[in-house]
Amino acid sequence: MSSVRDIISRLGGMPMGFATVLKTFFRKPVTVQYPEQKKPMSARFRGRHHLKRYDDGLEKCIGCALCAAACPADAIYVEAAENTNEQRFSPGERYSKTYEINMLRCIFCGYCEDACPTNAIVLEPIEFPTGYTREGMIYAKDKLLEPAPAGVQGTPQVTPPGKYERAILPYPPIDASV
Ligand code: SF4
Ligand code: SF4
Repeated sequence: MSSVRDIISRLGGMPMGFATVLKTFFRKPVTVQYPEQKKPMSARFRGRHHLKRYDDGLEKCIGCALCAAACPADAIYVEAAENTNEQRFSPGERYSKTYEINMLRCIFCGYCEDACPTNAIVLEPIEFPTGYTREGMIYAKDKLLEPAPAGVQGTPQVTPPGKYERAILPYPPIDASV
């Protein structure tokens, strides 16, 4: 059972509590209504991922899944398929037919970026992923792949035989016909 001294000491704290409430009651709220309202970010901030393209419109991703292997959160799913000269998505043999990142799992560590041999996946200082459903937080290629440069055809492309045999370096590709 509380002693009289305890009760008095607790009641003594009440004015301090009220004073704190009054002090903050008329302050402007600090809540930021993200994503409608955006705060300026540090130049080092890394937001969501983008899949990059080369200047000629081909995709840099070659579907090797090293990013998925490096991801500590198991957030990346990659399914590769074969390129052909009639339907080429990237230099080399393969491209990522399916590429998904579960943004609910991602911890934005950047290990995927470090592991990528072609600098295809890049965390950029742009918006943070947002969504109202679990499905909406799984970003597939339609959200991740950047558009082709202006005036350049996207993928797939029809390419001459022998021009894009190597998946990684050297780039631009060696044209054996010259
Ligand atoms: S940033 Fe880290 S956690 Fe997120 S997908 Fe890349 S490796 Fe996985
Ligand atoms: S993003 Fe890079 S590491 Fe990941 S599958 Fe594509 S090429 Fe490989």
